[in-house]
Amino acid sequence: MNGQVIRTEEALVSAMESIHLGIFEGIKAYVEGNILGEGPLNIFCWKRHVDRLFRSAAVCGLKIPYSKDELLEATKRTVRANGSKANVYIQPRIWPKVAAPGQVYVVIPVWPFETLLGKGNPRFSKERRFMISSWRRVASDALPPQAKAWANYANSGLAGREASRLGYDSAIFLDNRGFVSEGTGACLMTVREGKVITPPVTASILESVTRDMFLRFLPEDLGIPAEVRDITRVELYASDEAFLCGTGGEVTPITSVDDIKLGDEYPGPITRRAAEYYSEILAGNVKKRKDWLTSV
Ligand code: PMP
Repeated sequence: MNGQVIRTEEALVSAMESIHLGIFEGIKAYVEGNILGEGPLNIFCWKRHVDRLFRSAAVCGLKIPYSKDELLEATKRTVRANGSKANVYIQPRIWPKVAAPGQVYVVIPVWPFETLLGKGNPRFSKERRFMISSWRRVASDALPPQAKAWANYANSGLAGREASRLGYDSAIFLDNRGFVSEGTGACLMTVREGKVITPPVTASILESVTRDMFLRFLPEDLGIPAEVRDITRVELYASDEAFLCGTGGEVTPITSVDDIKLGDEYPGPITRRAAEYYSEILAGNVKKRKDWLTSV
C-alpha cells in the first residue's frame, strides 16, 4: 500500500473517504505448466491491465503517482511476500484522498482463487441458470462502463441480488437501447452456427482484456470466426451456446437464460474448446502466446 508491503489489517483507508470515486483492476497470475498445481507464476496480460488502470484513472480524474514499471515491481513484490505458489488474483485499487486533493491511496491486494479451468476440472461444467436483469447496464452518458470504476459495480450488485432473490445463479444486462450488454462482472459471448458473436464496446461493456484476447485467438489460432455486433435478447435465447469471459469468471458456461435452455449440449463444444485453449495459454503452454504472460 502506497509503496510498502504491509499486512492486510494495517492497509486502512479512512472512513471519511468518498470510496465510490475509486477505480481498480482485476488481474490473475497462473501457475506455469499446470494451472491446477503449484509452481512459478505468470501474470496474464499485465500491460493491457495496467494500461486500462491508467485509462480508468484519467476518466475518473485520478493521478497515479507511480509508473507502470513501478506498479509491476510492487505487484511482484506483493505476490512474493505472500509466498504464493498457486494461482493468485491481483486487484490494484485506487481511491482519491478527499482531504488532500490530487493525492490517492494505491493498494495492491493479492489473494488465492479457485480456477474453473484446467483439464478435468468439475467446476467448469456445473449448471448455471442466468436471467436477463430488470436493471439495465449503466449507460455511458451516466457512468463510464468502459472504465473499471467501483461505482459501476453498484449496478452489478443490484442485478446480482435480483438474480439470487429469484433463484438464478446470475444475470445478464441489456443496455439502455435494449441490446444485450454483458454479465455483472464479465463479457458475454454467444455461439451461432459455429461463429462466436459478442456485443461491441458501445453496448455499455467494460473494455475487457479477456474479450480482446478471445477475439484474437479464436480466429487466428482455432479457426473459429468471431464477430463483434449487437445481439438481441431473442438471439441470445436462440443461440447454440453462450458463455461469459473475463479475468474473474475465466470462461463461465451458461446453461439457460430466463429458463430457456441454450443448445443441445452443455457446456457446448466451442465453449469447451475455447476454455481448454485459454487454459493452455494461461499455463504458458502455447508458444505463440507466451508474450501475453509476464513472469512473477
Ligand atoms: N465486464 C465487467 C463488468 C467486469 O467486471 C469484467 C471483469 N473485469 C469484465 C467485463 C471482463 O473484463 P476483463 O476481461 O478485462 O477481466
